[in-house]
Amino acid sequence: MVRMILWELSQEDLENWVVSKGYPKYRAHQIWGWVWNKGVSYPGQMTDLPLRLREKIEEELSIPHLALWHEAISRDGTRKFLWHMPEGGSIESVWMPHSNRYTVCISSQVGCSLNCQFCATGRLGLERQLKGYEILLQVYTIKYILRLPVTHVVFMGMGEPLLNYSAVMEAMEGLTSRLRMSPRRITLSTVGIPKGILRLAGRKEPFELAFSLHSAIPAKRQQLIPLAAHISLEEIRHALAIYCQKRRDWVTLEYILLDGINDGKEDAEALLAFVRPPLYAKVNLLLYNPVQGLPFKPSSRVVSFQKQLLRGGLITTVRRSRGVDIGAGCGQLARQFI
Ligand code: SF4
Repeated sequence: MVRMILWELSQEDLENWVVSKGYPKYRAHQIWGWVWNKGVSYPGQMTDLPLRLREKIEEELSIPHLALWHEAISRDGTRKFLWHMPEGGSIESVWMPHSNRYTVCISSQVGCSLNCQFCATGRLGLERQLKGYEILLQVYTIKYILRLPVTHVVFMGMGEPLLNYSAVMEAMEGLTSRLRMSPRRITLSTVGIPKGILRLAGRKEPFELAFSLHSAIPAKRQQLIPLAAHISLEEIRHALAIYCQKRRDWVTLEYILLDGINDGKEDAEALLAFVRPPLYAKVNLLLYNPVQGLPFKPSSRVVSFQKQLLRGGLITTVRRSRGVDIGAGCGQLARQFI
């Protein structure tokens, strides 16, 4: 018998299952409350349920967990986790505390197929798609099993989330409806999959969207992101503009500054030209985190690049990665622990 996975059951599924075992519906509400409100997923600990029902849950439902293989703690308090996943493979998630904000960066795929040249994950290739519940469990485990506070979630870990759209949407729904997070505190980051951006624009929840631009000059972008050879910047700009119009919102452009590659005056000019109505965007400049074996260096022109964008009227901030000393910064996730 294939056992149903508890994490995948809706409230209605759970009610049907409980009733089919001869128990009243309210027992399903009790189970739901234990799992999603109190973070208790071991039936033995659901103390207000009859013993026989607890045994039935153990026997008939599957409740897989992430296995923590390794953990590293940075000088700045960031923690990086290497999990072995219930359906195979291993991935990383990162927990970043910063004043009263606690952000979890999660993975959506085991590895990644896109091979962005500055990214350690891209060198792994794609092993498989994560299931929705496996994505959600990264946050659940950090919040309820490791008991760390979580206020924000970013899909910026391993994988391109819009290439695993259904599972990622399932996880995002779970974050809002089961873990009761505000969609405004959930950010999906993409290297630019127009179809996925348009689907996201059609959703009712106001999730935040970040686009990894890294260069607004097509030829340079293609060198950094091989996918850019197949999807033009204009196509992506068009999808982002529709997103802004439908959501009445801005998007964030992520831009890793690489020394001598995309940090010149002409690069800033191209970026300024890329952001024009109906696309409304603010820019996050990221300092490059060196990855062993890759030829890139962090830019020495961060201040002048930012000034040029500010002078051009773009809201521009510089984001420092957290956890760089443990390989937990942007682009560093490669299942290596230092
Ligand atoms: S930057 Fe993102 S999309 Fe590109 S290879 Fe790395 S994980 Fe994949």
